Amino acid sequence: MSQKKVAFPRFGNYNLCIKYFVEQALNAEYILQPLLTQRTLEAGARYSPDSVCAPFKTCLGSLIDALEAGADTLIMPPGICRLGYYGELHEQILRDLGYEFDFINLSRYSTGKPKDYLKALKRIDPDLSAAHLARVGAETLKMLAHLDDTEAEYYKNCGFEVHHEDYHKTWSRFLAAMETAQSLHDIEQAYSWVKQAFSSIPISKPAFPLRVGVVGEYFTAVDGFSNHFLEQKIADMGVEVHRFMSVTNRNLRYHGKNLQIGIQDYCCYEMGPTSTANIWAAKHYASHGFDGIIHIKSADCTPEIDIMPVLQNISADYKIPVLYLSFDSQTSDTGLETRLEAFYDMIRIRKEGK
Ligand code: SF4
Repeated sequence: MSQKKVAFPRFGNYNLCIKYFVEQALNAEYILQPLLTQRTLEAGARYSPDSVCAPFKTCLGSLIDALEAGADTLIMPPGICRLGYYGELHEQILRDLGYEFDFINLSRYSTGKPKDYLKALKRIDPDLSAAHLARVGAETLKMLAHLDDTEAEYYKNCGFEVHHEDYHKTWSRFLAAMETAQSLHDIEQAYSWVKQAFSSIPISKPAFPLRVGVVGEYFTAVDGFSNHFLEQKIADMGVEVHRFMSVTNRNLRYHGKNLQIGIQDYCCYEMGPTSTANIWAAKHYASHGFDGIIHIKSADCTPEIDIMPVLQNISADYKIPVLYLSFDSQTSDTGLETRLEAFYDMIRIRKEGK
């Protein structure tokens, strides 16, 4: 049987983990699409319902890129918002466009039972065993945690580097090593290297730098292209940037119910896929002396619209400014930069006045 050519929508740097998993666990080739660009988004938007959220359009454009790069098997993630229904629509739109492919919609296998995920993955490799899946799955989660931790370190310090691009070059080298990793040994070696490399980059950082916490909708907060590389823009102004939202924090490290206890003064119910984590993170930044919070989401994202009044309450109680930003396929870089510069000036002047 010929090797399947598998792809997944582009989502931040996580495709490197999916590549590792597909190649090491499923005996298949992984098709890594080109990085997301405006062209990808426009291709997705052209065939999408107009009012749907931007992640739908970006994922559709990215699946088209994958099919054109030779993929014959597409995997669509599950989701607990509208994302859970998007796979059905994506599949129908792509078939109407004339593409031929096998479509593994993980929403159809999300029963909470591992054996159902195994069933889904056996469509790619019928010989896959539960033991092999567990071993490579654990290695993949290690890679994922290392990527998230390294990226967090990057945005905390890259705005203070003495030599332009030191951080960026090191980060890119680390990503390249993760892209070609073929074993846990390769993953751990790359991680040890990047930790050492980051710690030897000269930085000039004040004792009390400006600190901004970024919260927001999962896809838009995590995927740099979808938020116009907002974290880099803020960091480049000489700001320490923190973002709680990541797959490691949201799905692996923190327990939703425990986060809920920490925010019960503000909200008693789960309001959406990332609401509890975002409210918790915003309260954490506010109560730990951060200078500002930026809330980002796709236009039309109902779950994140719902948490905005809660963020306003946190802002009033802790006297911390919150900048609210919505992104869609029409968002302009210039408009975003103007708002970020104004926000930066405001938090800088406030800090100088303290
Ligand atoms: S959380 Fe919001 S933007 Fe993200 S997929 Fe769900 S509805 Fe769309």
